[in-house]
Amino acid sequence: MRQHLLILGGTTEARALAERLAMRADVTVTLSLAGRTLNPAAMPVPVRVGGFGGAAGLEAWLRDHRIALLLDATHPYAARISANAALAAQAAGVPLLALRRPAWVPEAGDDWRPVADVAAACAALGPAPRRVFLALGRQEVAGFEPAPQHRYLIRSVDPIIPPPPMPDITCLTARGPFTLADEEALLDTHRIEAIVCKNSGGSASFAKLVAARARCLPVFLLARPALPEVPQVATVEAALSWLDHALSRRAV
Ligand code: NAP
Repeated sequence: MRQHLLILGGTTEARALAERLAMRADVTVTLSLAGRTLNPAAMPVPVRVGGFGGAAGLEAWLRDHRIALLLDATHPYAARISANAALAAQAAGVPLLALRRPAWVPEAGDDWRPVADVAAACAALGPAPRRVFLALGRQEVAGFEPAPQHRYLIRSVDPIIPPPPMPDITCLTARGPFTLADEEALLDTHRIEAIVCKNSGGSASFAKLVAARARCLPVFLLARPALPEVPQVATVEAALSWLDHALSRRAV
């Protein structure tokens, strides 16, 4: 009998995992998206969209759909859904694996300045006006209202409505992955002097940091949130191995 797997997604890794599982005869896969982007990329497996209603709602969903294994492949800054996944999996007795990208680490030439959160980033940018690239989601950019002296370049997948409250903003819409040439052109065209971003890990959004290194730009990196301690792997390959092992244990 096919085992039903639930992947919590919204990342390139979740999509890659679904692609690798879509053709298998031993599993049925559902991919779950929060529903934040207007036109999400096409997915290779059936998709459900929207919140579950907290940990209790996710637990009920796991039970109702007889989920055999839960894979949390959400973004490393999506802390609430990861916490809910840990609680729900334990309550429903469903094995859980987190697929988490390791954080980027600085190398020679990088000028990275860790900050705790958006408020700390505002303070760290300082009083003098700068041209700042905010490589952040719409949920974070509004937090720069207390630093109206800067000129902000904001890039998001969908238009930000209502627009962020700072007086001097340029908004672009674009969907990654971004190449080094893309990021060099962006930084140079807008004469960017500082970047604020997350330490997302992975390759899709790393090029901006390479471009920043070559230009000696300061990069203010928001700290990663604390995530629940659950079994975890760093790659799609490792997740597939874990899955095979977990499925074979269920078969005996
Ligand atoms: P979050 O703060 O951890 O989650 C907020 C709520 O959104 C959750 O409590 C849950 O609602 C719902 N939710 C989140 N991910 C979901 C999923 N995959 N399927 C169904 N419901 C989900 O999450 P977030 O930071 O807003 O991120 C939302 C989505 O965007 C995630 O899928 C994440 O992988 C993706 N993403 C996030 C970032 C980022 O920087 N945070 C970047 C790229 C992609 P209920 O409590 O009602 O279940």
